Amino acid sequence: MPADFDVTIIGGGVIGLACARALSHNRSVLLVEQHFVFGSETSSRNSEVIHAGLYYPPGSLKESLCIEGRQKLYRFCDDHDVPYKKIGKLIVAPDEENPELIRLEQKALKLGIPLSRLSASEIKEKEPKVRAAAALFSPETGIIDSHTYMLRLAQEAEKSGATLMKQTRFLQATSTEDGWLLNLDTEDGEYTISTNVVINAAGLHSHDVALRAGVPASALPTLHYCRGHYFSYQQASPFQHLIYPLPEKNLAGLGIHATLDLGGQARFGPDTEYLTGHELRYGVADHLREKFANAVSSYFPCLESASLQPAYSGIRPKLSGPGQPAEDFLIFETNSEKKSKILHLFGIESPGLTSSLALADKITARLPTAT
Ligand SMILES: Cc1cc2nc3c(=O)[nH]c(=O)nc-3n(C[C@H](O)[C@H](O)[C@H](O)COP(=O)(O)OP(=O)(O)OC[C@H]3O[C@@H](n4cnc5c(N)ncnc54)[C@H](O)[C@@H]3O)c2cc1C
Repeated sequence: MPADFDVTIIGGGVIGLACARALSHNRSVLLVEQHFVFGSETSSRNSEVIHAGLYYPPGSLKESLCIEGRQKLYRFCDDHDVPYKKIGKLIVAPDEENPELIRLEQKALKLGIPLSRLSASEIKEKEPKVRAAAALFSPETGIIDSHTYMLRLAQEAEKSGATLMKQTRFLQATSTEDGWLLNLDTEDGEYTISTNVVINAAGLHSHDVALRAGVPASALPTLHYCRGHYFSYQQASPFQHLIYPLPEKNLAGLGIHATLDLGGQARFGPDTEYLTGHELRYGVADHLREKFANAVSSYFPCLESASLQPAYSGIRPKLSGPGQPAEDFLIFETNSEKKSKILHLFGIESPGLTSSLALADKITARLPTAT
């Protein structure tokens, strides 16, 4: 008997939705999301920056999918009326011959990412309020309305026939001869459906989902929750572009930067704070203001710290712990020799939003060809 669905995707964040859109062209697709709104976890708790692809380890999926994903994302925004602005970004350094700045410059050249060095007068002209001895300008960096983007992905998937179910929680997967039986908890009670392939795009819960699909805990990479806080700036934005300091050691974060939303409001963040345990705690403590004021005033000396207001936070599902080198996105496949294929997506932290369309295409290419 044919399965109910060719593919079932667990998780309706930006990655699950991008997969649903890509796969529904020629497959029957079910996507289940436990919450009432798609993308209400990490996908709506980020900087909404379309990254150029400068920072990531050479040859990593983060690097290649960010570069490819950025191009695909700008095209998608144009074609589907998703608001964005390619406003560009300054990466600023306190000294002229900063080795990290030189490294980024050389890397951009090698990868073909547009990037130019700004002279002191050009920095002043572009961003009069910024203090920096040297800066790079990345014209390909932009900001996006991530909520409209996810809405369009969902609409496109549904147009191609995908079934997208909210308030539906995946409970358990049992492997069969040629696929899977999935237990789902819906508003109307528990259901069991059959599917050939499963994609685990559950973000911060991807390990829990893997365990519920029978992957032994010993086979799973360690998952670290790393929270990033944001403070909004309660004054007119002092900047026209995104302003980034040099990235943190081991790329734990990109440094407390200044981003703008599409309405022109400035905010600062995110920092990095590793959490103990796997509880989703999104509070932004008021006492962090001092840490933010110190970091931001290094490139924005006129900052009035009283204008910093705790705003929101997001949690990165990291595969690297404190002080460890950055890990790549991981597409983890169990049952590869069987017909009942399951792909787990682990460690989809930044630049996951930028990479989403390219990652979805990569996953599509790893699935059996549609009949
Ligand atoms: C602080 C921060 C800043 C960032 N900034 C940027 C940026 O500027 N640019 C960029 O490109 N990227 C950025 N990112 C990364 C980006 O936000 C993520 O890579 C992306 O949102 C991950 O999407 P996802 O779909 O994998 O996860 P999520 O959005 O977390 O989606 C997973 C979904 O799975 C659902 N789910 C889990 N378990 C179940 C279950 N059992 N049953 C049903 N549903 C389930 C959850 O409810 C959730 O909605 C940032 C991330 C953080 C934390």
